[in-house]
Amino acid sequence: MIYPASVLALALGALGISESLLAQDRLPDAEPPLVVSWAPERPGEGELFVVRVTELEGDSIVRITARAGDEPLHFARDVQGTFETLAAVPLGVQSQIAMGLTVMYANGREEETEYTILVTPGIYNHRELDVAPRFGSPPDSAQRARRSREARRAAEVSTRSHRTPRMWGNEVVIPREDRTTSIFGQGRVFNGQVSSRHTGMDLDGETGDTIYAAATGMVDLAGQFELAGNNVYLNHGGGLVTAYFHMDRQLVAEGDTVQAGQPIGLIGETGRVTGPHLHWVVRYGWTSVDPRSLLSLAVNE
Ligand SMILES: [Zn+2]
Repeated sequence: MIYPASVLALALGALGISESLLAQDRLPDAEPPLVVSWAPERPGEGELFVVRVTELEGDSIVRITARAGDEPLHFARDVQGTFETLAAVPLGVQSQIAMGLTVMYANGREEETEYTILVTPGIYNHRELDVAPRFGSPPDSAQRARRSREARRAAEVSTRSHRTPRMWGNEVVIPREDRTTSIFGQGRVFNGQVSSRHTGMDLDGETGDTIYAAATGMVDLAGQFELAGNNVYLNHGGGLVTAYFHMDRQLVAEGDTVQAGQPIGLIGETGRVTGPHLHWVVRYGWTSVDPRSLLSLAVNE
């Protein structure tokens, strides 16, 4: 059945209620009611959030397939029987995001529901530039070809993460306990135009300092890229990817399984950088999100 989700979600949002109770006036043959909720109640622009589906009685749900924005969701059952998945609000999405849910029951019935999730727009202090941004000489055709090849390899990690079952528990560690030198989402403004948003978080360090895996996962890519330098991409499954750029060198190889907190590389200044630091990337699928939203989700579990 299809609910007028935008109306429902807007009404609930106005009341400050994040949970929507489905099937309140059930037909005699309808399935037991379920609760769909998400946290935070109004997820932030460029941030991760968690979606939960709970059956109020029985356990007749066999499977849930879903999408939020352009990304598939991966519901898995926790020990209490609640279905849970990560999801993400892309940078630039400031008012709402659509979520479609298809619930499949043991008796073969399917219910499709659309939701509108209201978003809290991000507040970013973009750097105002007086002169046009300079990137040195424009890339030649060989450099452009290399960059697109490397971008494709990185995107393939995201594709594989959508096909890999979730490997990580709720343990998440910051890959370096150090000063944040540049936050996620910051852009540069010239002539009123925002360009080149910063799609990771920079953590300070000296060349040779240890970088730790943020969560349990698999080393899906250990590359030497033009812009990202020596890098490691971890596929954590269930759509979650973390990546670590500008390493002096990697301490792991493709195919390795790593635990949260395990050393994976050393701080360096390889690739396009002005000094040694870690550029830390967190993605849900192809969507880059603020790494701090991964850390705070883990804390709130
Ligand atoms: Zn950076």
